[in-house]
Amino acid sequence: SETIERHEFGAEVGRLLDLVVHALYSDREIFLRELVANAADAMDRRRFEALTSESSALPPDAKVRIAPDKEARTLTISDAGIGMAKDDLASSLGTIARSGTRAFSQTLESAKAEDRPSLIGQFGVGFYSAFMVADRVTVTSRKVGSDEAWTWASEGQGSYTLEPGTRAEPGTDIVLHIKEDADEYLEPYRLDHLVRKWADFITVPVAIVRDGKDEAANQGTALWRKSKSEITEEQYTEFYHALGMNFDKPWATLHWRAEGQLEFSALLFVPGSKPFQPIENERQSKVRLHVRRMFITDEAELLPSWLRFVQGVVDTEDLPLNVSREMLQSTPALARIRKAVTGRVITELSNRAKRGEDYEAFWENFGPVLKEGIYEDFERRSEIAPLLRFRSSAVEGWTSLADYVSRMKDGQEAIYYLVADDAEALKSSAQLEGFRARGLEVLLLSDHVDAFWPDQLGAFEEKKLQSVTKGGLDLSKFAPEGGEADPVEGLDAFVAAVKTALADEVADVRVTDRLVDSAVVLSAGGAGPDLQMQRLLRRAGR
Ligand code: ADP
Repeated sequence: SETIERHEFGAEVGRLLDLVVHALYSDREIFLRELVANAADAMDRRRFEALTSESSALPPDAKVRIAPDKEARTLTISDAGIGMAKDDLASSLGTIARSGTRAFSQTLESAKAEDRPSLIGQFGVGFYSAFMVADRVTVTSRKVGSDEAWTWASEGQGSYTLEPGTRAEPGTDIVLHIKEDADEYLEPYRLDHLVRKWADFITVPVAIVRDGKDEAANQGTALWRKSKSEITEEQYTEFYHALGMNFDKPWATLHWRAEGQLEFSALLFVPGSKPFQPIENERQSKVRLHVRRMFITDEAELLPSWLRFVQGVVDTEDLPLNVSREMLQSTPALARIRKAVTGRVITELSNRAKRGEDYEAFWENFGPVLKEGIYEDFERRSEIAPLLRFRSSAVEGWTSLADYVSRMKDGQEAIYYLVADDAEALKSSAQLEGFRARGLEVLLLSDHVDAFWPDQLGAFEEKKLQSVTKGGLDLSKFAPEGGEADPVEGLDAFVAAVKTALADEVADVRVTDRLVDSAVVLSAGGAGPDLQMQRLLRRAGR
């Protein structure tokens, strides 16, 4: 009819659909996880909006319904969530709205064909994964606060249609017309098995329709509320995988229950490898906040940003269920929980650092993020410093500040360090010559945050941190290992001449004992920023 509008997909969607549909099908069961997660999100959002506005509340018996129909060969996933208006349907399901999905689809495109299925399995591609099992998808949705419904439909090839639809209540129905080779997704027992696999992280009740009756599929197992002795390592790992984009073994699993003044259960993981999305680009901790099992938000910043690599759940009795986002900012109970959870993570890192074990593996994955804590968290600075690891001019592998101090020469008062962009360039830097010749160890720093934190930390065990590029460093009390060089006569006149020649370029020219093979080295003024900091400021246009 003339009320049907046809629209083309954005170019990115077309490419993504093509990749998804033509990937091998070993992992296509994830479509159900993606669609149920969207349905649960939509219901969480409706519950939240009703707290802060006049919009209609989530009905108390609201759930996600998964209804297979063998005769019609359809699978329908319904929710009582926030719903989508006509514009929402076009923008959410016709373009790639989420930047994470865009980045992922680019990775997918450049991945080898044989690696794609497992990439899709691990990360998901949201709504579009429906086309792995369906040759036609229709979405009928009514937005909360509106009395009209719209139907979006597509065969996943180039275009979709929009037309007026009907729905008695707010929410969304997604109807999948199941492909010939995907019959298994019309079997209630198979659907039930899939939902149970990640039941813990579905935040609302899910029912599967069997013989016309709703059967609860997730019983709210809430793994974090069980006692440790009831949980196998495998269950922990499964939960960790379900939490997000993880497919490795966690490096640390922290599971505890706080009783007394504060009551909460926490189940946290430190990943065993770097996440697929570079963590440097993110800012906030995504640890999930639950209140009496019910998911509230992953934006409560339960950990400071310099521990944002930690993933997991904190579930408390100390907040009301209808806590609003505004309240989260200011409630004292949450501030105390944050403090306790942060302290616990630091204790775990300290213990693992002391025991050695595989601390270096952790450091290589997340060390640069942890260092941000030195300048961001004044109160925790002294707890973070012993957790830092460094490359050094004197030893192979990683070393700590305490180990450096234990190797300091008699009479040495400062911890020397050199910052540059590139670890290799550091080793051969002329800045090191005089230190090497005198057997003085220098820490070699090449992470992007290294220009900032040493000044903030200031000192460790009362030894000042000293950049070797700063001028005014007197090394004369340490004898060079090959013996003193013969003093060169008549340098004064030469220095004066250089000074005149470079008068517009440099503030001063001095004779130095910091060089052995090189003739000259650039050095920063004694009081101002060190050389690497000056380089960064220049790049930033200051
Ligand atoms: P993601 O959920 O990761 O953002 P998707 O491709 O799965 O990516 O979904 C895109 C968007 O479509 C969602 O962000 C949401 O705004 C909307 N959406 C999808 N499913 C639903 C639903 N059942 N109810 C309401 N909105 C939905």
